[in-house]
Amino acid sequence: MTTTSPRADLSGGPLDDARAQLAAAIAHLGVSDGIHQMLATSRREMAVSVPLRRDDGSIATYAGFRVQHNFSRGPAKGGLRFSTAVDLDEVRALAMWMSWKCALVDVPYGGAKGGVAIEPRDHSMAELERVTRRYTSEILPIIGPEVDIPAPDIGTDERTMAWIMDTYSASVGHTVPGVVTGKPVSLGGSLGRSMATSRGVAHVALMAMASRGIEPAGATAAVQGFGKVGRGAARLLAEAGVRVQAISDVDGAVWSEAGIDVARLGDHVDEHGSVVGFEAAQVLDPAALVTLDVDVLVPAAVEGVITGANAADVKARIIVEGANGPTTNEADAILADTDVMIVPDILANAGGVIVSYFEWVQANQAYQWTEREVNERLEEKMTRAWHDVVDYAGVHGLSYREAATALAVRRVIEAHELRGLYP
Ligand code: NAD
Repeated sequence: MTTTSPRADLSGGPLDDARAQLAAAIAHLGVSDGIHQMLATSRREMAVSVPLRRDDGSIATYAGFRVQHNFSRGPAKGGLRFSTAVDLDEVRALAMWMSWKCALVDVPYGGAKGGVAIEPRDHSMAELERVTRRYTSEILPIIGPEVDIPAPDIGTDERTMAWIMDTYSASVGHTVPGVVTGKPVSLGGSLGRSMATSRGVAHVALMAMASRGIEPAGATAAVQGFGKVGRGAARLLAEAGVRVQAISDVDGAVWSEAGIDVARLGDHVDEHGSVVGFEAAQVLDPAALVTLDVDVLVPAAVEGVITGANAADVKARIIVEGANGPTTNEADAILADTDVMIVPDILANAGGVIVSYFEWVQANQAYQWTEREVNERLEEKMTRAWHDVVDYAGVHGLSYREAATALAVRRVIEAHELRGLYP
């Protein structure tokens, strides 16, 4: 094993970035080209078209995908995204990152991801239900509790998971709670799952701050995205004493020197659907959020927001990647020459898949843990993964992203080698 830190090629999109990160890990681990090629390629990809009968009787058709990157450590696991930005390459990248994330936090899964190229805000609830059920029936042959287990991601939620579970269960003739995670608690969802990704993000942010000698009281943060991940992360950071000075969503951004009242902003968003118009803060240019002078920047929206164009202007001391792929490889290379600490996505946002695993275990056992048990076990796993990454980075002279990826890729390769190549 070498101790060099090969920099990735410059970025062309999430899949190029993911493959370059893998190539860097492979070079560091000194693994064969054959293994590299195998891991650079998805094990199974399904592209479907999803026709939807709209409420007005017309028909619209959307592209849908499910990509299973790797099964060496267990069934494939990963979210389902509803967004017009979805395409096959994005889903491939997200599926690969899921393989590394599951290996890094040591849950017995491979990686997968799904997507439908649809804007959920343009559709009624009835249309979203029909599109979810049709997509599920199209991918039904390749999902299942021992095969591939979807979960919520951008534009989907626990209701989406309930429809997937019901469609799958109707098709096999009995109720199968373990086919999805992130479902409502009343249908076998786990206590603590809806906040799990945010809780993990906040937990790792506080550990990163402690490692830099930054006390939460007196610290500042900016959070991009106020959805399932960003909203809870902002709330938990504020509860820990951090002044969350800026928050954005797809429509705009707000800023307050004294810190935003996150609960009040949540009420505003529930009522108006956006952070825009929140009167207890000032209007901020959303593009300016990532370059604010704060201690912690939490990108918790989409990929590719910290790029070659703005990385040199980042003033945050720590970036905690709530989103998947928010920092391009080009930005990574620029930030590597600065003091900015990046806590990479496969570590920072792994709380979701950790508690998804707990939910799957509870479903398989037909037994429910208390929320305290869930949260304690979540924090234990996140803490262990944090120390694994920090220690490995220190020993080998790698960035946290390089260390996290190398550790994860090594674990996937170990599983592959123990199982052997069939036939
Ligand atoms: P979500 O749909 O619940 O929320 C997304 C938020 O981002 C919304 O507030 C939306 O308005 C905002 N947004 C979208 N585009 C934006 C832009 N260009 N600029 C600023 N804000 C923008 O999605 P989510 O589940 O919170 O997922 C967010 C990110 O976290 C994604 O990268 C996802 O893959 C990742 N993630 C989610 C989970 C999970 O459990 N939900 C787990 C791990 C990682």
